[in-house]
Amino acid sequence: MSTERSFETSFETILGHAHPKAVLTAAIASGRIAHAYLFHGESHIGKFLTAVAFAKAALCSRLKTGQASGRPALSSCDQCSSCHAVDSGSHPDIHFIGPDGAQIKIGQIRELQDAIAFKPLVGSRKWFIMDEADAMNPEAANSFLKTLEEPPDHSTLILITARPQALLPTVLSRCQSVRFSPPPPDELSPWLQKQRGIGLKEALLLSTLAMGKIGIAAEADPDSLKEERDRVLDALSKNHLEDLAELFNEPEELASSQEQLYKTLDTIEIWLRDVLIGRHTPEPSLLINQDIPDRISAWGRAVSTDQLLEILTLIHLLKRASTRNLNHALVLETVLLKIRDAVVRETAPGPKPD
Ligand SMILES: [Zn+2]
Repeated sequence: MSTERSFETSFETILGHAHPKAVLTAAIASGRIAHAYLFHGESHIGKFLTAVAFAKAALCSRLKTGQASGRPALSSCDQCSSCHAVDSGSHPDIHFIGPDGAQIKIGQIRELQDAIAFKPLVGSRKWFIMDEADAMNPEAANSFLKTLEEPPDHSTLILITARPQALLPTVLSRCQSVRFSPPPPDELSPWLQKQRGIGLKEALLLSTLAMGKIGIAAEADPDSLKEERDRVLDALSKNHLEDLAELFNEPEELASSQEQLYKTLDTIEIWLRDVLIGRHTPEPSLLINQDIPDRISAWGRAVSTDQLLEILTLIHLLKRASTRNLNHALVLETVLLKIRDAVVRETAPGPKPD
């Protein structure tokens, strides 16, 4: 566990997330901050920065108050010594914990338990921010549960996850749930234009390719996002299953490339959604992959609505499956085979499979 991490954030600079911000600022204003929160929602949309902004505002000695969208709002002053310490990642009352390799292990939970027992050093409360909380292994999760059952008065734990269903129900039930959603493209695009100094058209394409994931849209190269998508689509259109296997690595490696797996599934899901919409409406503005309309119509001719819905349902189930679900690889293979069977006949330019 460490307190060494550097970033600058505040409620004022965080894009979107009006509801989470309203809930958290109300907790600060009323002095009723919970002992444990669960920040959940897709990855790379700002949950972690919001957690830091929350702790920073709660620890700030000169909190700013004002209005946002007609509601009372507050934010850290970004000037006091506490705010500077948070910005430089050296505030002694904020602790970070995250996967060591692929897992959060029991040793890390024991360190947390040692640290949480002591009173805050300079602030009124100690903060523990656990990123990718679903990476706790069973031993760690069981031990962590004891801390959640009897958290010291002076502490707040924030668990961050893109997959809350992978956490123990007993952990979930002890946390106040705060749900995060990706900002819509019309909110993300103006922000991206300003942040990256790009035109509106480019910003729109970037925000749709990044699927509203601020963290990706803020840094990614638009060409590489397009390449990544095209790589997935090319592999899905080929004749042999080996090409698909290449795309997802070997099933036994799935656990180590979980993020890649979910990214690829997101790409496929958005793509099939476009194909489905493209079948039923000629309105291009409803499509996400607006830059390749011919490819969308080619798939639309090859795959039936029933097939699309069946595959989308399967993907949805797979994304909801817990890490402890041993059939991950099997379900994934089923998705890929179904897609291959559905699209190979019409869209593949090469010879048919034997
Ligand atoms: Zn301050």
